[in-house]
Amino acid sequence: MKGGDGLDALQAKLAIQAHIACARQAAILAGGQGTRPPGGPAGDAPTPFSPVGDIRRRPAAFLDRDGVLNVDVGYAHRPDQIEWLPGARETVRYLNEHGYYVFVVTNQAGVARGYYDEEAVQALHAWMQADLAHAGAHVDDWRYCPYHPDGIVPRYRRSHPWRKPGPGMIQDLLAKWPVTLQGSFLLGDKESDLQAAAAAGIPGYLVDGADMLGQVRALAG
Ligand SMILES: [Mg+2]
Repeated sequence: MKGGDGLDALQAKLAIQAHIACARQAAILAGGQGTRPPGGPAGDAPTPFSPVGDIRRRPAAFLDRDGVLNVDVGYAHRPDQIEWLPGARETVRYLNEHGYYVFVVTNQAGVARGYYDEEAVQALHAWMQADLAHAGAHVDDWRYCPYHPDGIVPRYRRSHPWRKPGPGMIQDLLAKWPVTLQGSFLLGDKESDLQAAAAAGIPGYLVDGADMLGQVRALAG
């Protein structure tokens, strides 16, 4: 049955090639995350998305980090400093399951102030993503702004459009992902969060720390 074996081998090879092609297409549809590290350095040119992404156009929830997802202890940069706020992970999961992109937009002036470096921010976000996964939740993309005009680290000592109340982080995400503004919103804990949302043309709300999930259900329902 050598001929049969050859046919089986050919079919297996074709199946593998089809699988690879599907995986590549899936990667493209995923927004090309592999081409740019999440939360990459501020000032990168936005990555245009493929027209094929239009079929996936969805609203987005832009979440501040400190004071919305985790207790704001001031310049958190290690996992042991992260205490999730009540309902935060469940809220992210709810948004995941109800067709929203979930993005984190966070000022991280601690980098400019020399308290920690960008690698620490990225490592912490990777840890948070892994911890969210335990709750069946995920953040689609992260943006942080390491700049501050009063910083002590020269390369980060400057004003920057990504720093809230500037809308730069939101605008960068809107440029990269197929987001529909209709239905999109930001959740923050400071006036500067709301100002950033307004400047980007989306509604912003102060988080209800007592019932974040209920608040988001009402917003996203
Ligand atoms: Mg905050």
